[in-house]
Amino acid sequence: MKIALIAHDEKKEDMIQFAQAYKKLLEQHVLHATGTTGKRLNKEAGLEVIRHLSGPYGGDQQIGSLVADGKIDMILFFRDPLTAQPHEPDISALIRLCDVHGVPVATNMATAEVLVKGIENGLLEFRRVEKREGKLQ
Ligand code: PGA
Repeated sequence: MKIALIAHDEKKEDMIQFAQAYKKLLEQHVLHATGTTGKRLNKEAGLEVIRHLSGPYGGDQQIGSLVADGKIDMILFFRDPLTAQPHEPDISALIRLCDVHGVPVATNMATAEVLVKGIENGLLEFRRVEKREGKLQ
């Protein structure tokens, strides 16, 4: 599976802790991340990550483009709803694209945990079936 990880500044510490807790599972998948989140995931959680631009510089849009191409299976996005984000339109667009393409997206750690446990339990099989049938890459 291809999983994208994004965390706003106030949530980056939570993201690192989450990644450390689920490292064994996450390292079995291809991980994408926005710039700063990816850097910290690599340094502090020891995960190999494909890094895109930082969120405010277009990283969310780059990940959105992958979603549109069927190249992302899940997004774990630790959002900070209490701080104004300069790239809020990009964030809304990314979440919209997830709904357009039926990609599971968690916007907080509690939902992220449920999604990750879903992978452990063999859920999301429908995405694998769609891939086998050539509907997704
Ligand atoms: P960052 O971007 O990981 O580069 O901080 C995340 C975001 O703000 O969407």
